[in-house]
Amino acid sequence: MAEENIQTIEEDKLSEERIAFRKRRVKRIKRLLIFLLIFFLLIPNLVCAFLLYKLYKMDQHIDSLKEEIKISKEEIERRTRESAAKKAEEQENEAKVVELEQQNLSDDEKYPDKQLVYLTFDDGPSKYTDEILDILNEHDVKATFFVLAKEGYDDQYSRIVNEGHTLGIHSFSHKYSTIYASLDSFMEDVNGVSQFVESKTGLRPTFYRFPGGSSNSVHKASMQDMIHFLTSENYVYYDWNVSSEDASPKMLDASVIARNVVNGVGNKHEAVVLMHDSASKRSTVEALPLIIENLQSKGNVVFLPITDSTKQVYHVKEKDAPVVDEDPEPVDEEETTIEEKSETEADPNEE
Ligand code: ZN
Repeated sequence: MAEENIQTIEEDKLSEERIAFRKRRVKRIKRLLIFLLIFFLLIPNLVCAFLLYKLYKMDQHIDSLKEEIKISKEEIERRTRESAAKKAEEQENEAKVVELEQQNLSDDEKYPDKQLVYLTFDDGPSKYTDEILDILNEHDVKATFFVLAKEGYDDQYSRIVNEGHTLGIHSFSHKYSTIYASLDSFMEDVNGVSQFVESKTGLRPTFYRFPGGSSNSVHKASMQDMIHFLTSENYVYYDWNVSSEDASPKMLDASVIARNVVNGVGNKHEAVVLMHDSASKRSTVEALPLIIENLQSKGNVVFLPITDSTKQVYHVKEKDAPVVDEDPEPVDEEETTIEEKSETEADPNEE
């Protein structure tokens, strides 16, 4: 009996120990489960947070890359613009050099195998100036205008310059008795028309034509003194070696004027043609297309405005001057007389 009791007590103890052990085990399993639960809940959040952080960083990186690309694009554009501007500047400089080289060449050197024809119009502007300019434009011809000082023709002075023709000066008063009375009055006349033209165009003229030509016989002052004055003031004077004879008191028919010019040009290498832009010279305007078309049909004629590259053509040479006319045209006294007579009689204010 006692042994049975002892065995029962021992069995109870054992049973209690087992229960306690199970309880601890269940507790451990519970803890483990809670731990695992917390762990598996936390991990995705942490991963998400980490990924979001990475995404944010990548976004920032993309933004900075975008900025870099933008800057690179701007840089490329800037460099392209710079290189284009540089290229344009180089081309411009090259063109300038070519232009300068050409400027240094005389017309003769520029066109060695051509006949050079310089159409010159004295006494303008007039009511025909626009028409003359239109005809020149239509035929792509540049010419030279030796003008007077006339109010009311601002557009015509500007057109002459803007359309590539040469604007030279002729006279302020166009009254021979006044112009040639003395050296002082000659200087006054030249300065007067020069300042007038400069006030209209902003350009100081450098080419001059004597009223009546340098060979006129009406001047009282010394021709050499007048020429020296012109040279000292940097003017170059041009007479003519072909006359259209449109200054004749009797108005010539257009066909006669055209024939005079075409025959006068003949085989001359350089022909400076005297014509007039005047209200009384309608037939000169009509003759102009005939002259240009006839000479152009020869095939070797080039029409040029008088410039610094043009060989000076004169009737009276400046003494002790470096100007040399190797093949001087004989002065046609009759032509000069016609020009003098006509211009002496002409009233500059008639228009
Ligand atoms: Zn004149």
